[in-house]
Amino acid sequence: MTLPRPRVAVLGGGPGGYEAALVAAQLGADATIIDEDGLGGACVLTDCVPSKTLIESSTTMTSLGRAASLGLELANGQNPELSVDAPALNARIKALAMAQSHDIAEHVSGEGVRVIPARGRLTGPHTIEAAGTVVNADVVLIATGATPRALPEGVPDGERILTCRQLYDLADLPDELVVVGSGVTGAEFASAYQALGSQVTLVSSRERVLPHEDKDAAMVIEDVFKRRGMNVLGRSRAQAVHRKGDGVLVTLADGREVPGSHCLLTVGMAPSTTGIGLDQAGVNLDARGFIEVDRVSRTAVPGVYAAGDCTGVLMLASVAAMQGRIAMWHALGEAVQPIRLTHVASTIFTDPEIASVGVSQAAVDRGEVPARMVKLPLATNPRAKMGGIRDGFVKIFARPGTGLVLGGVVVGPHASELILPLSIAIEQNLSVDQIAHTFSVYPSLSGSVTEAARTVMEFAPDTII
Ligand SMILES: Cc1cc2nc3c(=O)[nH]c(=O)nc-3n(C[C@H](O)[C@H](O)[C@H](O)COP(=O)(O)OP(=O)(O)OC[C@H]3O[C@@H](n4cnc5c(N)ncnc54)[C@H](O)[C@@H]3O)c2cc1C
Repeated sequence: MTLPRPRVAVLGGGPGGYEAALVAAQLGADATIIDEDGLGGACVLTDCVPSKTLIESSTTMTSLGRAASLGLELANGQNPELSVDAPALNARIKALAMAQSHDIAEHVSGEGVRVIPARGRLTGPHTIEAAGTVVNADVVLIATGATPRALPEGVPDGERILTCRQLYDLADLPDELVVVGSGVTGAEFASAYQALGSQVTLVSSRERVLPHEDKDAAMVIEDVFKRRGMNVLGRSRAQAVHRKGDGVLVTLADGREVPGSHCLLTVGMAPSTTGIGLDQAGVNLDARGFIEVDRVSRTAVPGVYAAGDCTGVLMLASVAAMQGRIAMWHALGEAVQPIRLTHVASTIFTDPEIASVGVSQAAVDRGEVPARMVKLPLATNPRAKMGGIRDGFVKIFARPGTGLVLGGVVVGPHASELILPLSIAIEQNLSVDQIAHTFSVYPSLSGSVTEAARTVMEFAPDTII
């Protein structure tokens, strides 16, 4: 008996959507993506890819700034100056994003996925309408993403008051950038623009920057920010942002005023779940407007799945992509492992970077997870010394008794790469003993990962360091 090809329709072509469509096509389904902005979604066109491209330039700027301390001279003059060519920088960022989107579009079409470049909406649980075309499907995946929030009294104008998606149209580097919000996005842009030469003020409503991250890591970053001349305003809630003359004025809840040439709002993301027919389809939203899903990406409606930022699960491209793939494996009858959020590795691309995976220091401190912990400063690592790297550490959490790796935090250059051995250890149930017996290159920053593992082993199994 030959079964008919299942029809899959995906609303939204970001990582949640296109990765799902690729799996569907590979499993023999007839897959269609409906997307209004371009494949790769906001991830590729406006958010993740452009911001990390900007950060490549800002990190290079910082490295070049350290040249003299490494015995190098930048130019023939006594006081060589580096400057930013903002139009060239932004043009490179946008061209790279477009090229990446184009590559994804080619890959997706090459796998036989149909793409409808239009805004779509559900007219029922198994029907999407887009630009006059009606797509009927056995399986529907909603992956419409999220958009930056603004303040009630701080409306982005694309010129001086900006969301993170409007930065790459600026003709010049902001002279004085006020970043409102000190979460991951705020910290990344504050770090990047300070390095590029803007005078940055970071307005944080909480006591410290990155309030939801590892406290030791956040303290390192805050110290670095201040040392590099950033004005970090803790316990300062922004109430309003207005244009004033050629610049902006940010008014804080306690009445203080912070002037600047530009203001960047990084106050969270709102799910793109309105006006797309979710009520017609019977899909439930939570109180904040995110689509409710289980660990295999099912909504409450049979055959309707959701993935990515519109679910609010963990707003990361890697999680969106995995939710999308899991949805398709589940819908198309493959064996599937429900998503395990404790295994997700993530990085904050400040300079230095903060990468983490597994259990957090906060969970250990609250007594939720018994763990041994060791924290090794990078400053003692020979390779770090050679590179003039002072800031950063490797932290490992291990289960008392068995020594199984439970989590880790790396702060340092390329922490996003250095976290991988700890991610593998968690995924594969490896112990610190197994990491400690693994060869690392001498000299290397990853040598600190194996050394931290050896140090955890040196302590009695039930000692909490
Ligand atoms: C500044 C910034 C930096 C980030 N950096 C990182 C990072 O370094 N690493 C990381 O893992 N994550 C990062 N993220 C998060 C990451 O970008 C998101 O988690 C990811 O984009 C989510 O993918 P998605 O598929 O859910 O949605 P999106 O990438 O937002 O894509 C959704 C797509 O759906 C389309 N769409 C929406 N509604 C409709 C409709 N009705 N009809 C047709 N099309 C529609 C949109 O046009 C868009 O193309 C960053 C986010 C921001 C804001």
